[in-house]
Amino acid sequence: MKVPFIDLAPQTKLIQSRLLSAWKKILTSQRFILGEYGQALERSFASYHGVPEAVGVASGSDAIYLALRALDIGSGDEVITTPYTFFASAGSIVRTGAKVVYCDIDPKTYNMDSRLVAKKITHKTRAILPVHIYGLSCDMDPLLKLARSRSIHIVEDAAQSIGATYHGQKTGTLGDLGCFSFYPTKNLGGAGDAGMVVTRSSKLAMRIKALRNHGGLKKYHHDEVGVNSRLDELQAASLLLKLPYIDRWNRSRQSHASYYNEALKGLPLETPFVPEGYTSNYHLYTIRCERRDGLSDYLAQKGIGAGVYYPVPLHLQPCFKDQGYKIGFAPKSESACREVLSLPMYAELTLSQKKAVVEAVRSFYKRS
Ligand SMILES: *Cc1c(COP(=O)(O)O)cnc(C)c1O
Repeated sequence: MKVPFIDLAPQTKLIQSRLLSAWKKILTSQRFILGEYGQALERSFASYHGVPEAVGVASGSDAIYLALRALDIGSGDEVITTPYTFFASAGSIVRTGAKVVYCDIDPKTYNMDSRLVAKKITHKTRAILPVHIYGLSCDMDPLLKLARSRSIHIVEDAAQSIGATYHGQKTGTLGDLGCFSFYPTKNLGGAGDAGMVVTRSSKLAMRIKALRNHGGLKKYHHDEVGVNSRLDELQAASLLLKLPYIDRWNRSRQSHASYYNEALKGLPLETPFVPEGYTSNYHLYTIRCERRDGLSDYLAQKGIGAGVYYPVPLHLQPCFKDQGYKIGFAPKSESACREVLSLPMYAELTLSQKKAVVEAVRSFYKRS
């Protein structure tokens, strides 16, 4: 039995007829940008998060970039983040002109190690950008305490963590601004690119609304230089139809994760660790093992989808070569990059698919 790493078809099927009629309405209305669907999505997304403000943007990457811009972060400033994440976390900081300062991870959660952050703070630090990797919250309390005592902002990269909680509170609502991605394979995925910023500050929300529209809220008047980064109506309609399912979908992922955790017991691999008081949305179900490449090749042969998130830490990316980072700078991130493997995970996984995944992993270890 083949099991894909992810399958978007069931969710598309679920909303397809409603989506096509919404898209037809949009096509007829000729209102493609900043219309009623986008506004409705912003309201629903804010309400889902229990915050007053949500601003739709063109991607998760832009959400991070615009959140930092709204805080006036740019050239001469430093932003602390993790090297163990998708490129956009650091790429968006670089785009503002600020310097990325990397903090290594806690090898158990793969998240930025809150205990190491204080050492990274300088007089130039303006923000900390925790990334809730794989859909598990960072340890936020120490970060929030640090931020308060040093007047530093917290911008959460919640691109992977919609619906995940930290001591009962949703990720993305813990810091000053929370950034979300609706890339198609995210837990809440659009039919293309889109993103969102949530915040409790109406001032910051207004600023992002201007920045996403070339720095102007009034037509042809520009208070500053922004970008074109709006969430279009076609995307908004699709996300609006999917949002009501997100908690159900996340619960399904959690139950698949419990199945995997149980069924993989006794093998020489680590299953995901979720600290007390946290809930993961299992954007990815990531195991860790010494013979990762062997297992990965074996699963590919058996038709089981698996992926490496991430093979190269950001400080060692070729585009940052001139920063002079050496291997060994962030040892915990670097070894995770050699040992992690994500298994098939999406809400609609069936029991026989999960069994096939586990059987294939077990047979790899039996064989060798
Ligand atoms: C997906 C992702 C992003 C970027 O989102 P896009 O919508 O693809 O621009 C940023 N950070 C993390 C951790 C992500 O997984």
